[in-house]
Amino acid sequence: MENCLFCKIIKGEIPCDKVYEDEEILAFHDINPAAPIHILVIPKKHITSLAHIEKEDENIIGKIYGVINKIAEEQGFKQDGYRVIVNCGKNGGQEVMHLHFHILAGKRLGEKIV
Ligand code: AMP
Ligand code: ZN
Repeated sequence: MENCLFCKIIKGEIPCDKVYEDEEILAFHDINPAAPIHILVIPKKHITSLAHIEKEDENIIGKIYGVINKIAEEQGFKQDGYRVIVNCGKNGGQEVMHLHFHILAGKRLGEKIV
C-alpha cells in the first residue's frame, strides 16, 4: 500500500528498531513510547484496521497473539505482565491506518479504561 507508513517500514524504506520478524509479521519499538517497553506488532499484509479484517485474515490475528507471547517471553516481561491495545478508527484514536497491536510493559500501567 503506497503512502502507508507501516508498509514503508515493512519494505525497509523507513528504518525501525526491530524486535521480531517472520514472513507474515513484524514487530518494532514504538518511536514515541507510552511505557518503558512499547512495541508495535503488525501484519506484513496491509490491513487498514481491525474493522477491515476479512475471513482470510483471521489466521494472522491468532498468529500475532502467538508472536506477542513469544516477545513477552524473550524480552523478559511475561512474568510481570503487560497490556495489548488495538486502536480502531476515529473514535478508537487510530492514527496510523495499518492494523497494529501495541504491547505496553515495564511498569504498573495506570488509566485502566476497562
Ligand atoms: P495509533 O495511534 O494506535 O495509530 O498508533 C500509532 C503508533 O505509531 C503511535 O504510538 C506512534 O508513536 C507510532 N509511530 C509512528 N511513527 C512511527 C515510526 N516511524 N516508528 C515507530 N513507531 C511509530
Ligand atoms: Zn500498510
